[in-house]
Amino acid sequence: MTMRRARLLVMNAALGPLDYRVPDGMVVGPGSVVVAPLGPRQVLGIVWEPDKLPGTDVADERLRPLHDVVPVPPLRPELRRLIEWTADYYCASLASVARMVIASGGALRGPSTITEYRLSGGAPERMTKQREQAMAALEGEQATIRELAAIAGVSDAVLRALVNQGVLEPVQVDCDRPYPRARADFAEPVLSEDQREVAAKLVDAVAARKFAPFLLDGVTGSGKTETYFEAVAEALRANRQVLVLLPEIALTEAFLRRFEHRFGTAPVLWHSSLKSTERRRAWRAIANGEAQVVVGARSALFLPYAALGLIVVDEAHEVSFKQDEGVRYNARDVAVMRARFERLPVVLASATPALESLHMADTGVYERLVLPARYGGAQMPSIETIDLTQEKPERGRWIAPRLAQAMADRLERGEQSLLFLNRRGYAPLTLCRECGHRFQCPQCTAWLVEHRLSARLACHHCGHEEQRPAKCPECGESDCLVACGPGVERIADEVAEIMPGARVALVTSDTINSPEKAADFIAMAEGRAIDVIVGTQLVTKGFHFPELTLVGVIDADLGLEGGDLRAAERTYQQVAQVAGRAGRGAKPGEVLIQTRHPEAPVIAALAAGDRDAFYAAETDARRHAGAPPFGRWAAIIVSSEDDAEARDAANRIGNTRPNLDDVTILGPAPAPMALLRGRYRYRLLLNARRSAELQKVIRDWLGALNFASGVRVGVDIDPYSFV
Ligand code: ADP
Ligand code: ZN
Ligand code: ZN
Repeated sequence: MTMRRARLLVMNAALGPLDYRVPDGMVVGPGSVVVAPLGPRQVLGIVWEPDKLPGTDVADERLRPLHDVVPVPPLRPELRRLIEWTADYYCASLASVARMVIASGGALRGPSTITEYRLSGGAPERMTKQREQAMAALEGEQATIRELAAIAGVSDAVLRALVNQGVLEPVQVDCDRPYPRARADFAEPVLSEDQREVAAKLVDAVAARKFAPFLLDGVTGSGKTETYFEAVAEALRANRQVLVLLPEIALTEAFLRRFEHRFGTAPVLWHSSLKSTERRRAWRAIANGEAQVVVGARSALFLPYAALGLIVVDEAHEVSFKQDEGVRYNARDVAVMRARFERLPVVLASATPALESLHMADTGVYERLVLPARYGGAQMPSIETIDLTQEKPERGRWIAPRLAQAMADRLERGEQSLLFLNRRGYAPLTLCRECGHRFQCPQCTAWLVEHRLSARLACHHCGHEEQRPAKCPECGESDCLVACGPGVERIADEVAEIMPGARVALVTSDTINSPEKAADFIAMAEGRAIDVIVGTQLVTKGFHFPELTLVGVIDADLGLEGGDLRAAERTYQQVAQVAGRAGRGAKPGEVLIQTRHPEAPVIAALAAGDRDAFYAAETDARRHAGAPPFGRWAAIIVSSEDDAEARDAANRIGNTRPNLDDVTILGPAPAPMALLRGRYRYRLLLNARRSAELQKVIRDWLGALNFASGVRVGVDIDPYSFV
């Protein structure tokens, strides 16, 4: 029977479900993407099962007709169920989740061609500085005028003039041109015994087409990637799509090369900084099943795959899978739900799994696959601590003598060292020696971080930047500003001072901010053109440099200072991951961890290489605190540009709190980050037993309240950030 009326989930969170008439001759079903009239406007909507989307029934004769059906495949029921589950679990609107699915407006417009531009090799009639700069920046680029303008940092008009003069030439591009095909058998590796066993299980699971969650628990360098590639190959043979989620775009460069090596061509990429044409091409190929393997950031999880056969979450413990804005979801957890709805295997790969994931494996919910040793006989590195209270660095320095000596030995032997400090910039705080003035962000509760490379003071929370002044803005004194504490830039300076001959590479999101720069860095490190790498968490994972034999952790206590729920776990993961960069080749690796608390359980466990002891202690602590996985946390974050308005809203929420046995409610209190991007913030924290219907409690509670229009009330289920 054809549908004569349709209920829509409309892509606008402020609107509820809306009913329409399906005009004669139009064919729609659940999942169809349609355009409907709304007042004088038109809105985008998805046809939904009325019983899954309760609304008020409007009489047939009052219904307006749908305007149009968008020429894309209808969203499959599995995906519709995932949208419902995500909205429900994370207390978000269906529309905001659905928007992550329809992530490309261009893709909805159907097949088309687009005009892109590239340098023709010709010269302009008159060369100006601006033109010269623009042309240098556009070398090798091809994109629309607007995108090129953004790349070159000039106005559209400047580029239009270059088009008129023939310097930029138009190219007609088919928006849907097919991607090259990956080949399952392009370059098959010879797997080790352990790897073969694990790969066989994964391959079988892909062939079985059933829900099967795996924890791929393998030490750093054990060949987890190589192993799950066999499951990818199986999916390719079966003509099923694969999604590989990576925590960071910076990592994709190394991954792409490995993938191409194994399968003969690069996979389809998805991340937030894709050009609109790339985005539309990828989206359409994903929706029609032509994209075989998609590698992306967490947002790739919600795309409308036509025939998904496998999901891999690589480095699954990574915090960046948690989104902290908009729909506050955890891609690791949603990936498992998607696999369940779609009935397919999902692989969480990590050398340092999240406690929650280990717990699922221990209780038999996930199947645990173990790769206990490094590939090719490489040994795990030896790990020692340096007690900074005993072995002090020189005044004004941060590298202890023993670490400096170990680095000098490496330099002499032509091997590489890596220093890890998870702090961008030169110094985390600048203060006036005369009056004590500290430079703070005007929009956030945060100190400004000095960046010497860009000669700026910058806020890492909102992006505010200012010039470092010559005089103190408070007392007017000059030459009185001092940098307090180290960031990676300062450590790199120190290395240059103590090892004048060493070639130092600084690896942070400030220096490695494009795929090209990532590729350059990898090539230099592999080509042994770098002696010392100084980096933030960007260097902790993914890289494989055989000549790297020493890892120094500048300050292992840093992560513990915040004191949030996952501080110890995160410290463990970060240090274990960066330690895992050492000695991956034939030569043994050494790791030196600088700390003021060598006796702290997490540091002691790292030094002893005793992962089980750490997880056991951490599990006990969590059980005691009723923290995940034994209980659950949720945060309610209230913010407004007006402090009184935010406080008032938070108090009203606090005053109407439900009284429940299985949910403890703390707050409201000013958030640790009481001001963020110019918004005043208050928080409530909920701790619930597993028996509690946490989401329902929150929905009923907040749903009964109305707030001023400037107030935002966000709900964070299983929060990672406690600022
Ligand atoms: P992990 O992801 O577990 O840290 P990788 O997959 O990066 O480990 O593997 C470590 C290194 O060993 C990589 O350079 C990889 O190419 C190599 N390697 C692993 N397994 C094999 C294999 N079976 N054949 C050839 N090289 C392998
Ligand atoms: Zn001063
Ligand atoms: Zn700020």
